[in-house]
Amino acid sequence: MIYLDHAATTPLDPRVRDAMLPFLHESWGNASSIYQHGQQARHAIDTARETIAAELHCDPREIIFTSSGTESDNLALRGVLRAGGATAGHLITTTIEHPAVLRTAQDLEKDGLAATYLPVDEHGLVTAEQVTAAIRPDTKLVSIMLANNEVGTIEPIREIGKMIEKRRERGEPAPLLHTDAVQGAGSIDLNVKHLKVDLLSLSAHKCYGPKGIGCLFVRQGVQLRPMQTGGGHEHRQRAGTENVAGIVGFATALQLANKSCAIETARQTELRDYFIQQLQKEISNATLHGHPTDRLPNNVCISFAGIEAESLLLRLDFAGICASSGSACSSGSLEPSHVLLAMGIDTETAHSAIRFTLGKDTTKDELSTVVTETKKIIDNLRHLTS
Ligand code: PLP
Repeated sequence: MIYLDHAATTPLDPRVRDAMLPFLHESWGNASSIYQHGQQARHAIDTARETIAAELHCDPREIIFTSSGTESDNLALRGVLRAGGATAGHLITTTIEHPAVLRTAQDLEKDGLAATYLPVDEHGLVTAEQVTAAIRPDTKLVSIMLANNEVGTIEPIREIGKMIEKRRERGEPAPLLHTDAVQGAGSIDLNVKHLKVDLLSLSAHKCYGPKGIGCLFVRQGVQLRPMQTGGGHEHRQRAGTENVAGIVGFATALQLANKSCAIETARQTELRDYFIQQLQKEISNATLHGHPTDRLPNNVCISFAGIEAESLLLRLDFAGICASSGSACSSGSLEPSHVLLAMGIDTETAHSAIRFTLGKDTTKDELSTVVTETKKIIDNLRHLTS
């Protein structure tokens, strides 16, 4: 199998699995128990929290463990907008967010809160100026993703953060800034001070960690309304017995991802550009989507004129190649990607776009094979319909 769907999920790194195993076998205690067996689990969680905080350049008390990137996004949006029991307030986001943000924003709107969805340009970019123009006196939160999961475009979060910081210094209305950084782990610097964000979402399974564990960075002083009622876990912000093995695995995965970030980014960028160049050389009418340079090092979102993405994906699957159309969550439905449509791409082209996402084990040989197989399939499909 050639796996080119790392934006959907990544395999568990064996080093991460080894770090998790003791907490699935001998050290299975509840971290809230006062006896030693439970305290081993507590110690492991504390250490993992410190590791993640060091990677993000924040205080360990600013990390809340959740079940996923989806939950982190929900907690950021619902938590901030509903803080103090508020029933009014305004949110700024974009039209290309992951459904975890988009549908949450829409749900908040149903409850009477206001939301502005900023449009993007043809590369999927928003600007700090657009955000500035959308800020109202009642704007509580700006939520913009660090990098898009479908087209890989990297958004100017630091610039937006700087703009908000300046407004705060001048005493102007200055909302909090949240970024969904789920796709950025391992390829973008996640230093929250550098990014100037107040909240940041992450998910372990996108960086060779286990599924079902994520976290939300919440800058100290930010008021959140918890989504769950229950025990006092996670500084009373997220009730529920902790997923100890998941938390330990997440910390190990993030540490490993950050350690290899520079080398992997350079390696994957070179492979990505080779792959794009070969696809466009071998196959006619192949259009790359997303930003030409400000894009994730592993993302190749490309459409082939006249080809239904689903037909191509099925045939690639027969050839042992895994890729996807749109995001993992929306594939399966035949709706064209909301991201591509928001970028002004017509419906037919959006229907023919497929996403290849490279990973740390992807090789040039694999990519050459994928080019050959894709060309064969497309020649065949185009022949059938001509
Ligand atoms: N945000 C982005 C940008 C994503 O790509 C994903 C997953 O595809 C999520 C959030 C959701 O993360 P999880 O799968 O951990 O719920």
